[in-house]
Amino acid sequence: MRFVPHHILRADGTQGIANNIMPASEFQLIEHYFSRLGARRSDVPLGVGDDCALLQVPPGQQLAVSIDSLVEGTHFLPGVDAESLGHKALAVNLSDLAAMGAAPAWVTLALTLPRVDEAWIEAFCRGFGRLAARYQVQLVGGDTTRGPLSITVQVHGFVEPGRALRRDAARPGDLIYVTGTLGDAGLALLALQGGYDAGEHLAALQRRLERPEPRLAEALALRDLARGAIDISDGLLADLGHICEHSNVGATLQQAAIPLSAALAAYVRATADWSMPLAAGDDYELCLIVPADRQAAVEAVGQTLDLPLSLIGRIEAGGAIHCLDAAGNPIAVARGGYDHFRNP
Ligand code: ADP
Ligand code: MG
Repeated sequence: MRFVPHHILRADGTQGIANNIMPASEFQLIEHYFSRLGARRSDVPLGVGDDCALLQVPPGQQLAVSIDSLVEGTHFLPGVDAESLGHKALAVNLSDLAAMGAAPAWVTLALTLPRVDEAWIEAFCRGFGRLAARYQVQLVGGDTTRGPLSITVQVHGFVEPGRALRRDAARPGDLIYVTGTLGDAGLALLALQGGYDAGEHLAALQRRLERPEPRLAEALALRDLARGAIDISDGLLADLGHICEHSNVGATLQQAAIPLSAALAAYVRATADWSMPLAAGDDYELCLIVPADRQAAVEAVGQTLDLPLSLIGRIEAGGAIHCLDAAGNPIAVARGGYDHFRNP
């Protein structure tokens, strides 16, 4: 819906629009850029264009829904390229579906733009649309308004009752796995802000920050072996902390088992700072909780994935998370994690 001041009441009682936020071309803009973005799905009887989309949830499936906003200056640096932003806005949402073990289907997009910059919108749609097509996701609706740059995406996916990977499912003795490598996005941000010279690793790190890959294939391959999962958006300790709180358990991690990229290994060697892989956010890897008797089965599936799957620790009774060094001594790392409303 447009802002109220832009609606006028005509003398004959019908409503009109005094001054579109996107002048004259708002509807063409939507038609041109947003009406055919992503996949074409047979479970969308009516997509972009009417007051609502009409969507058909397949029989026997639950709808998994999640929404995330990206605000300039809070979630991304001003001036970041629009294609990366389009990719990331969708990727972080698809990551939530992956963490739930849900298969993606539909997406809506609320865009607030300071001005109509068609080159920007086109690049944004390229990044968004390519990722959507790759995962068979259809853009089915949204809203376009003027204001400080912000992007809100809501995803919808399907999961059969009882098969979702919930945060409250961990039990003492369960194994903790993570996909990929940890800390790369945090190190990228530090390097881009001039706090670290990443040298030859900079481009690879920047890609991890700006073009995260949702771990959907991994989640769906492991869904029926794992008990629960979370995606690492706020840092391993913070996100594993959510699993522990919801499940009333604690955890012990083995520092030496934390998977590091070449760039992170070089950083840790140079600085002895483990806060990047343990507490920095924005990686969008999965942390999976697996019953111990399924270790062999999980690792067999792990062999078939494109990414490493690393066993990093165990769920314990009690509420604390400990991280042990190679000699078995606890190391102190602030749990960290970004909290938008924490007092400074
Ligand atoms: P209304 O005033 O009825 O909310 P809008 O002008 O906001 O209608 O939107 C018209 C149509 O375009 C709707 O189907 C809406 O879902 C779609 N739409 C608007 N902006 C976007 C967008 N950024 N992405 C996808 N669909 C959009
Ligand atoms: Mg609207």
